[in-house]
Amino acid sequence: MSLFDSMQTMKHEQVVFCSDKATGLKAIIAIHDTTLGPALGGCRMWPYKNDEAALEDVLRLSRGMTYKAAAAGLSLGGGKAVIIGDPEKIKSQALFRAFGRFVNSLGGRYITAEDVNIKPSDMDYVAMETRSVTGLASVPGGSGDPSPITALGVFYGLKAAVKYKLGKDSLKGLKVAVQGVGSVGSYLCQYLSQEGVELFISDINEEKLAEISKKTGATITALDKIHSADVDVFAPCALGGGLNDETIPQIKAKVIAGGANNQLLEEDKHGQAITDRGILYAPDYVINAGGLISVYQELKGYKLDAVKQKTSEIYDTCLEIFKESEEQNIPTHQASDKIAERRVHAVRNIVRTQVTQFNSSWVKA
Ligand code: NAD
Repeated sequence: MSLFDSMQTMKHEQVVFCSDKATGLKAIIAIHDTTLGPALGGCRMWPYKNDEAALEDVLRLSRGMTYKAAAAGLSLGGGKAVIIGDPEKIKSQALFRAFGRFVNSLGGRYITAEDVNIKPSDMDYVAMETRSVTGLASVPGGSGDPSPITALGVFYGLKAAVKYKLGKDSLKGLKVAVQGVGSVGSYLCQYLSQEGVELFISDINEEKLAEISKKTGATITALDKIHSADVDVFAPCALGGGLNDETIPQIKAKVIAGGANNQLLEEDKHGQAITDRGILYAPDYVINAGGLISVYQELKGYKLDAVKQKTSEIYDTCLEIFKESEEQNIPTHQASDKIAERRVHAVRNIVRTQVTQFNSSWVKA
């Protein structure tokens, strides 16, 4: 498919190719949709096997950000950037400043942040060239590590799913299996254990497992047994693609609610397979939006209370999604896409109406 065909199919507004020979910078910035506000999304550095793979990734990721921001009720559009290359080899101050200048040239239409293989110190160089950057750790008013807020959002989404599926307001006495106890998973375990949940955890990192088990009393579970654990909730908090042909039939939990991105290996196929098994799936990009909410608030002047308040709204958004999914007999990931699309279209229609009114009065004059 040609670039413009891809852009039109996926409804992207703008794709910017950035090249700076002196620093070795090769980057692509994709702006998917700015109806709700400037396109915000992290910058990822990855040694893509070719330019096409980088383009495919940035188009997919930027589109996902539009849905995530819209579902979270933020005045933000969706965008993403990728820098092509090996993070061990190509990083330099000059390269990040060159990237910052490209971001700046977009006049605020795209706001960048950290993503895979990018450190806060890298973003400090970007910030020397543009104000269109957020999620800074080292400046006053920076929002810092988003993981605790991401985990808080997952906690609210998980509670909403338990309320909807199991009819319980409290998590006390429930069993939850958490796959991956890294930044998000470990904070989630702490929130859950404070509510009296019995925890089961797995991770490839044995030190982490021992640490979280000691803190929360969680039972350590083998990597290949975590899906089939006899629990009420399964919380994927490791890598993407974990819900697939092999794992879905093993799941005994009635609820899936976790922080990992892109949990469904194939969205429609595996979203449907989960629904067919009578399991309620809390869509990943809805319940892991706390980090985005946090960096959004940084743009407006960081206030932790405001971040927590907005993050708590994930509970009601999830209930709305579950209801729509049941009423329309569609999987929950499709219901959340519909809700996000409605939020974008509602604002797009306002913009169109205003333009039309302006034009007609201009003609009369
Ligand atoms: P992390 O690297 O700190 O944690 C991931 C953990 O998963 C690690 O401890 C790792 O050892 C473990 N792991 C890897 N493979 C595993 C396997 N097969 N089985 C069990 N454990 C395994 O990353 P994180 O920041 O906690 O992010 C976790 C997930 O949440 C990722 O998918 C990420 O994209 C997503 N996410 C994170 C945030 C955030 O604020 N950090 C925001 C939104 C989404």
